[in-house]
Amino acid sequence: TAKRSGGNAYEFFESKMNQSAFERLVLENELREAVREEQLVVYYQPKVFMTDGRFAGCEALVRWQHPTAGLLSPGAFIQAAEECGLIGEIGDYVLRRTCTQFAELYRQGMAYPVAVNVSAMQFESEGFADTVLDALNSSGLPPHLLELELTESTAMRDPERVIHQIEPLRQLGVTFAIDDFGTGHSSLSYLTRMPFDVFKIDQSFVRHMESDPHAKIVVETILAMAKSLKLKTVAEGVETTEQLAFLRGQGATLAQGYLFGRPMPLPDLVRFAEPENAAAARIAQ
Ligand code: C2E
Ligand code: MG
Ligand code: MG
Ligand code: MG
Repeated sequence: TAKRSGGNAYEFFESKMNQSAFERLVLENELREAVREEQLVVYYQPKVFMTDGRFAGCEALVRWQHPTAGLLSPGAFIQAAEECGLIGEIGDYVLRRTCTQFAELYRQGMAYPVAVNVSAMQFESEGFADTVLDALNSSGLPPHLLELELTESTAMRDPERVIHQIEPLRQLGVTFAIDDFGTGHSSLSYLTRMPFDVFKIDQSFVRHMESDPHAKIVVETILAMAKSLKLKTVAEGVETTEQLAFLRGQGATLAQGYLFGRPMPLPDLVRFAEPENAAAARIAQ
């Protein structure tokens, strides 16, 4: 990233400084500009019902339309955003943008559920619940269409506080999912008490469940636990019909993955969701 903005200053710095520290500095400055200049865009990845492939909703995933480097995935900047304290602003932007777009669809008769990722820092900040309320109120999105995804580690860091924080939003109808489930360290006793609605099985288990018996056991165990707790499940990273068949056999509720659709701009998502668009349903036959 640094070379672009480069020239002599870059070469000077490179010889004087640790390169990755310098690159990080450039990235942070560019990221501040990205937030200011509205270079962030939100893509949506569809989720479908395991049983028949019907559209079930989607997940909002942020991208950065970088002025020279093209469209960047969150892997390239989310961690930096967390470290330099910009994740709150980015998260707010994604939340508000998503609410606005899906409220507009709702007014046009398309009541599509949408999930937004929430980082630990954003979730733990003082005004989080108010921000969500404001995003819902000012957009007009019905709260039951909004799902918030917390990673397992965020959810389990301070479970009492999490329960306290999400309860008022849940009472409005907002649902909560535990993202990347299986990768963190959940306390079983808390898991049974936490007011979550959905487990999202991490894609690493889905990817390896055919070749690695341990991954398969994790998937089976999560699905069995979800069943006892009467929670829904989303299998992430479904890429093959074999994976789909296995997950469906095990009773997973929803599938999300390249087999059905990659994260896409809103107009593509709307086409995907149309009932007469039978592509997803065909795959699921
Ligand atoms: P995540 O929330 O677990 O999102 C799922 C990721 O898996 C997405 O990557 C998605 O594109 C990818 N994926 C979905 N299906 C498949 C598949 O079949 N195969 C493969 N190989 N990958 C698949 P993405 O968009 O690069 O996002 C990565 C992570 O960045 C997300 O993981 C989430 O933790 C974070 N992220 C994205 N948007 C936001 C945001 O607005 N706020 C925060 N805090 N984090 C975000
Ligand atoms: Mg997620
Ligand atoms: Mg995930
Ligand atoms: Mg993930």
